[in-house]
Amino acid sequence: MATGRAFSLNTGAVIPALGLGTWQSGPNEVYEAVLVALKAGYRHIDTAYAYGNEAEVGNAIKDSGIAREDIFLTTKLWGTYHTDPEANLDISLKKLGLTYVDLYLVHWPLPLNPKGNHEIFPTLPDGTRDRLKDWDFVKTWDLVQKLPATGKTRAVGVSNFSTVNLEKLLTAPTTKIVPAVNQVELHPYLPQQKLLDYAKEKGIHITAYSPLGSTNAPLQQEPAVQEIAKRLNRSPAQVLISWAISRGTSVIPKSVTAARIISNFDDFILDETDIEAINAISKTTSKRLINPKWGVVVFHDD
Ligand code: NDP
Repeated sequence: MATGRAFSLNTGAVIPALGLGTWQSGPNEVYEAVLVALKAGYRHIDTAYAYGNEAEVGNAIKDSGIAREDIFLTTKLWGTYHTDPEANLDISLKKLGLTYVDLYLVHWPLPLNPKGNHEIFPTLPDGTRDRLKDWDFVKTWDLVQKLPATGKTRAVGVSNFSTVNLEKLLTAPTTKIVPAVNQVELHPYLPQQKLLDYAKEKGIHITAYSPLGSTNAPLQQEPAVQEIAKRLNRSPAQVLISWAISRGTSVIPKSVTAARIISNFDDFILDETDIEAINAISKTTSKRLINPKWGVVVFHDD
């Protein structure tokens, strides 16, 4: 069953509530996944330069026959390009074979050293991440906020920003544009209520990533999710997706399995009691599942 829910961004654009995630979707499987999704009714696709699959995502969009303006496409600025976001966006557009994206996100608040030909994870001899020392995300944003004027992206936003980092960004004298979106890890083990409240107050839309608990979708095994799914004759994944949308976030479950891609596209209204039952999961199990070894504390909301 298709879903029509959508959210308005502070740019006036509309983001479909349910999109297809593509992290860890290999180049040989993502083409088919995006085609299946678009055929099933998805109109929101999430990719990133760092996922290494933009060419295949772009080919699938082209081959779907769906008009470009009917698809909401997000890609992301990688850390080694923080000093030159437009160069990274140009590379992404070339790989995608498109003239614009709908949303361009600063993937992580951490600038990485571009030396070494922009390898994705530049590393120092002692094994820690090679961070760019004389740069910060406020300077990055000063460049990123100029990108909508180039026509190469319709909106700009951030990802993996805590409330502390957002506050630093919004109060910086150079910041003229409020991020349209903050895409963050958000699921019943990490409901991020404080961040949701803060973002709402500032007019920043939140997109929930890893909604099923990331690799192998472990949240499906939670008894409360299973009980609701059984009673409502839905899958646990459908319940988790609807919970996210019910909280006002867009959500981007990833799958490369055709049957799952199709069945995940099934947003429905959960009643308050069931939303509360899922909210209660974090009282017993509270954890972050995506923990990159950045060597810095980038999260302050726990
Ligand atoms: P998800 O929570 O979306 O879970 C993906 C896993 O769930 C895969 O193993 C997938 O398997 C499985 N799965 C999907 N649907 C079902 C189903 N119906 N039944 C059973 N298993 C299912 O994890 P992600 O971490 O991928 O997050 C989603 C997206 O969010 C990413 O793909 C990416 O686009 C974005 N993201 C952004 C980040 C950022 O830093 N901004 C970080 C992490 C994610 P299979 O594919 O084999 O079907």
